[in-house]
Amino acid sequence: MTGKNRKLGIMGGTFDPVHYGHLVTAEAARLEFDLDQVLFLPSGVPPHKTDKQVTSAEHRYMMTLLATLSNPHFEVSRLEIDREGVSYTIDSLQILREQCGPDCELFFITGADAMFEIIEWRGSDRLLRIAHFIAASRPGFSLSELPPDTRRWVDEHRNRFHLLNVPAMAISSTDIRNRVRMGRSIRYLVPEQVEHYIRRHRLYQ
Ligand code: ATP
Ligand code: MG
Repeated sequence: MTGKNRKLGIMGGTFDPVHYGHLVTAEAARLEFDLDQVLFLPSGVPPHKTDKQVTSAEHRYMMTLLATLSNPHFEVSRLEIDREGVSYTIDSLQILREQCGPDCELFFITGADAMFEIIEWRGSDRLLRIAHFIAASRPGFSLSELPPDTRRWVDEHRNRFHLLNVPAMAISSTDIRNRVRMGRSIRYLVPEQVEHYIRRHRLYQ
């Protein structure tokens, strides 16, 4: 993972399961910011989801792998799922920063919803020194409604923040899990291979 002036996108998430909202966002970021690669980074034990039931990391990793296989610019990292304990984005970015080398620029991609929490993330200032931050539009979350302290913080780091408009997909993993539980279709919300994987492993029942 080295090279001159490489631009690496990083798409963190629980991916429980991965869906077309994630994929369309990653691809839009790649094209808009001329990224060489987008690395999907499934979380181990997500810091904000420790109290909830999360599907095993291996299942989430496999589904993310299946969903991204057909795009030569997409990769999936085992970094967080192989690490013990709670994974913080800042720790992962620091490791990726080192692996990528000095001529490599990192772009951390999130949906607009994450912007409402980012200020509470561990090391959020440090995060911005390590990586650019791409905030992608997401139905239901308007960046114009950010709380004033977040707004101020974004303004202070204006040169590191980038807005990205992606085709609106009102899809969430929560909704997909609910649909599966209720026996409703998830066709066209997730790639076919992911749909099959969920069925085969009886996930989200
Ligand atoms: P959950 O409902 O379990 O929280 P989710 O659909 O929000 O799942 P995550 O794995 O939490 O998916 O999200 C990973 C990243 O993808 C986050 O930065 C999130 O903002 C972004 N994202 C998820 N869904 C969309 C979407 N439909 N459009 C744009 N960004 C999205
Ligand atoms: Mg989420």
